[in-house]
Amino acid sequence: MNLNGKVALVTGGSRGIGKAVALKLASLGADIIFSYTSSEEQSKQVQDTIESMGRRALAIRADVSKMNDVEKMIQDGMNYFSKIDILVNNAGITKDNLLMRMSEDEWDNVIDVNLKGVFNVTKCLIRNMIKQKDCSIINIASIVGVSGNAGQCNYSASKAGVIGFTKSLAKEVGKKNIRVNAIAPGFISTDMTDKLPEKIIDQYLEKITLQRLGEPDDIANAVAFLASDMSKYITGQVIVVDGGILI
Ligand code: NAD
Repeated sequence: MNLNGKVALVTGGSRGIGKAVALKLASLGADIIFSYTSSEEQSKQVQDTIESMGRRALAIRADVSKMNDVEKMIQDGMNYFSKIDILVNNAGITKDNLLMRMSEDEWDNVIDVNLKGVFNVTKCLIRNMIKQKDCSIINIASIVGVSGNAGQCNYSASKAGVIGFTKSLAKEVGKKNIRVNAIAPGFISTDMTDKLPEKIIDQYLEKITLQRLGEPDDIANAVAFLASDMSKYITGQVIVVDGGILI
């Protein structure tokens, strides 16, 4: 796989899956714009690593749920690189609770970041991509957007929304050779899952056919495939990367 000459934007690229994606796409030759929210130190490390590979990197602080931040991020990215070929909508949060205990804020925050964030970033970039043609958008959904999960009505609704968004946009922009796909990770070892109690992790492990938690690189490899020409006839799809939980 080769991404030489491409520019990729990865939201939430300073840690976890987003960081693995940013480093993987850079290792394949792409220049990288990535957003971060709080940790300047982590984002500096990612930027340095990408630059040490001989690629260019631009780190931008932006909250994807805020349209003003997103507009500025896209503008700064376009000013710096003149184009963006690959968009990876990765930023996401959880605020788990049973519905009967879930606050309106827990619902709104998760929908605002996970679903409206995907709308905001894609909306701000899509005109440029349509003019440019030959682009790839990859949305990080989740298997719970397909299967549902007790305690995650907000999160699974946001991820099911991302899947619907992916398929609809794929139909809108296919004629410009812009491909739009989603990845549905299973249980991946990151800050998001490290905070779960051991008992829950053990319950997941029992359901995973390959008998191990996923690594961020497992998702980054699938993103690289969808970003590259190796997947040039694939659009509107949800690729499940879950070690066999859903089978
Ligand atoms: P993480 O918590 O390590 O990383 C989340 C990233 O999103 C961070 O970089 C964070 O800064 C960023 N982010 C959070 N709120 C943001 C906001 N308002 N604006 C911009 N960026 C924001 O978690 P992760 O596991 O790396 O998750 C990455 C994506 O993968 C998320 O969309 C998550 O829902 C999805 N996912 C993760 C798993 C898993 O098991 N870890 C499973 C399925 C899907």
